[in-house]
Amino acid sequence: MELEKAYEPQRFEPHWAEWWVESGIFHADPRAPGPRFSLAVPPPNVTGSLHIGHMLDHTVIDTATRWHRMRGDNSLFLPGTDHAGIATQMLVERSLAAEGITRQQLGREEFVRRVWEWKEKYGNRITSQMKRIGDSCDWSRERFTLAPDLSRAVLEAFVRLYERGLIYRGTYMVNWCPRCATALSDLEVKHDDTQGNLWHIRYPVNNSSRYLIVATTRPETMLGDTAVAVNPADPRYQDLAGQTVTLPLMNRPIPIIFDDIADPKFGTGVVKITPAHDPNDLEAGKRHDLPQIKVIGEDARMTADAGPYAGLDRFEARRRIVADLEKQGLLEKVEPYAVALSKCDRCGTIVEPLISTQWFVKTKPLAEKAMAAVNEGRIQFVPDNWNKTFFNWMENIRDWCISRQLWWGHRIPAWHCGNCKTITVARQTPASCPNCQSADLTQDSDVLDTWFSSSLWPFSTLGWPAETDDLRAYYPTSLMITGFDILFFWVARMMMMGIELTGDVPFRQVHMHGLVRDPERKKMSKTKGNVVDPLDINEKYGTDACRLWLLMAAAPGTDITYNEDKLASARQFANKLWNAARLLLMNMESAGIEPCLPEPGQLETLEDRWIFSRLGRTAESVNRALEQHRYHEVAEELWQFFWHDFCDWYLEIKKLRLSPNSGLTNDWRNILGLFSAYLRLQHPILPFITEELWHRFGQNTSIALAKYPQAGSTDEAAEREMGLLQDMVTAVRKLKADNGLDDKLELAGVLYCRNGSRNVEFPVVEWLAKVKLEVRTDAPPALTGAVRSTAQFDLSLQLPEVDTEALRQRLLKEIGVLEKLVGNSDRQLANEEFVSRAPAHVVESLRAKRTEYLAQITKNRDMLNQL
Ligand SMILES: [Zn+2]
Ligand SMILES: [Zn+2]
Repeated sequence: MELEKAYEPQRFEPHWAEWWVESGIFHADPRAPGPRFSLAVPPPNVTGSLHIGHMLDHTVIDTATRWHRMRGDNSLFLPGTDHAGIATQMLVERSLAAEGITRQQLGREEFVRRVWEWKEKYGNRITSQMKRIGDSCDWSRERFTLAPDLSRAVLEAFVRLYERGLIYRGTYMVNWCPRCATALSDLEVKHDDTQGNLWHIRYPVNNSSRYLIVATTRPETMLGDTAVAVNPADPRYQDLAGQTVTLPLMNRPIPIIFDDIADPKFGTGVVKITPAHDPNDLEAGKRHDLPQIKVIGEDARMTADAGPYAGLDRFEARRRIVADLEKQGLLEKVEPYAVALSKCDRCGTIVEPLISTQWFVKTKPLAEKAMAAVNEGRIQFVPDNWNKTFFNWMENIRDWCISRQLWWGHRIPAWHCGNCKTITVARQTPASCPNCQSADLTQDSDVLDTWFSSSLWPFSTLGWPAETDDLRAYYPTSLMITGFDILFFWVARMMMMGIELTGDVPFRQVHMHGLVRDPERKKMSKTKGNVVDPLDINEKYGTDACRLWLLMAAAPGTDITYNEDKLASARQFANKLWNAARLLLMNMESAGIEPCLPEPGQLETLEDRWIFSRLGRTAESVNRALEQHRYHEVAEELWQFFWHDFCDWYLEIKKLRLSPNSGLTNDWRNILGLFSAYLRLQHPILPFITEELWHRFGQNTSIALAKYPQAGSTDEAAEREMGLLQDMVTAVRKLKADNGLDDKLELAGVLYCRNGSRNVEFPVVEWLAKVKLEVRTDAPPALTGAVRSTAQFDLSLQLPEVDTEALRQRLLKEIGVLEKLVGNSDRQLANEEFVSRAPAHVVESLRAKRTEYLAQITKNRDMLNQL
């Protein structure tokens, strides 16, 4: 029954991870009693592998779920993955490219079959990683967004929204990625600030010698200009009403229009109007009934309407156009200009705004309902400072472009009639056109944005649109835990869809946590090469230590900085728990007790009354902090309780009480009862080590199903008395330290007690402080030498004859070493190259160490002076 000497989490973590899955103990039963707690995991991309952000997500989710389950709630933690439209399609396309095949050569059906094949083969990597990190999921309910049941939900959602006029087809300006050959939603476009140019171009006014000068960052679009605009209030151009200019290079007359789109304060106050390639120009064009001339195509090449530039790549066309303008003397000037380049979030290609016919969700009415839910408190953000960001975005929301020109995804349930052009949206493939009865029907070739199916996740996973037991029992879900980076992509859309389609909120609370950043507080990214792999961390420190570190660092509303020292100390904590268990088991063996975790017995001794009082308080604040998602407080509280109360004091005192072959005494019952409660308190955070120790102490059911300790009664007299005892022990230890004496050196002393302090169990003080005490109740004489006085007692310690010379030598030697260390740090910190190149945290810790050395030198000098 002896525990291995070293704490080696790698030895038992995989075992419990597997056992949790195979034993099926996390299976949720909708008909079981108890308050409901349910939560669906943010579905990771099926192409993905676990990154540190997931690790944080899953640690918080799993901690919350395990706590609810142990409290007796009927708990469901539902796992699953997202088909990840563009991401997966790109991956398979790349592997096809390696074989020299394009998806067009394969054809749609065969290509989709290949993607499924890929998914079956590689798509379970992320779920096996979730199993390995101990996610307490109900794996019998694993879902996939493109599986038949969830696809049915997508179909139903689309048709219902269409029937309610909340989905429409329209021709608008969209973000177009020429590489991915698809439209993108605003959220799938990232903006890169780069240095570009502002080209100032002369447009000759017809029948005049004047020029109007327009400035643009995208000169290739000028080929599609259908007007130039000036502000109606701009005095410079009042005489130009009804006139035209000649569009350079194309030699086409275009009108001068008067419109507020032109800002008189910006440059010359003249702007070019290109309705086909700019969303604001499109609006202006509609106001003035201007034609739309599309000069850049979906493939990012110039179209036939681009005249002599037709067929050129857009950037090659730009170079030639600028050169030609210069040749013709129409380039006024070029100046450097900061531009926010729009790029495809997936592949980095510069996005082209193009007019295109797409499917949209009308978001305004949906957003209003979602905002009302937050206003009325039906959905709560934790921390609530996210409300402001949420409202700001929702109030300015634009319609959501949901069609994608891809093959991997949910195909849009719309059929185009080849005869009368009517579009039919239906749940089943129609046999003929409802308008003209023609059988010439073709299904829309587009698929839905991958976030469309994710937005249904909280209810599609529970069987919606069917009225299932799961849906009745577990919807609305209790909680959504996720990083703030997908608030708009996902959280807001789930709120809109959930309320519209089910009539109820998808979750009652949203807990938003920060990002995990590198030691320099920079965002981690593959391109920067500063990514840490959670699986490496788990291998090196153990999954429990990684969870503990993340939770300790995860104060609400703050980002987490990756810090190996903190990880190492989290591992040290787990190691201390292991060692305490080992010590208990060894002592149990010599006492003749089989491993067990009995209920506590009578609380008779001071230390028992005190520690159970402390346990009651700790359980109370831990439960409260868990309720409020203050996980860092939970971790901190449990750390302090174990390290200080339990190890430093309680176990030390108990060593006095235990003896070999005693059997299961009352003392033992209390030690083990307390240890059992502590393991259960820690289980949601440290699932692996607590499960391992639980079994090592003779339990054969999972600790995950044991009862979570609740607030207990407190014993204030015991806490007061113990506080006094601790003060006495600390006083002795402090006097020893101040005089440069070893903690374990046994000394003699006199203790003058007043009032309440007379009842302290002095043998315990003597044992802990390594001191022989003469306890007196009379008033102390004038004390000198090694003395410590408090309101309750005066302590006078008899110091041994000190070999002053030896101590002096020792202190001098120490000072010498410390001064050398200070010198080394000074040299490094004076080296400007080192300071500017070394990571900030390295420099920071060097400075901190230097301060520490200096403090120690001062302390040693003081002692020298006292000798
Ligand atoms: Zn792209
Ligand atoms: Zn028809």
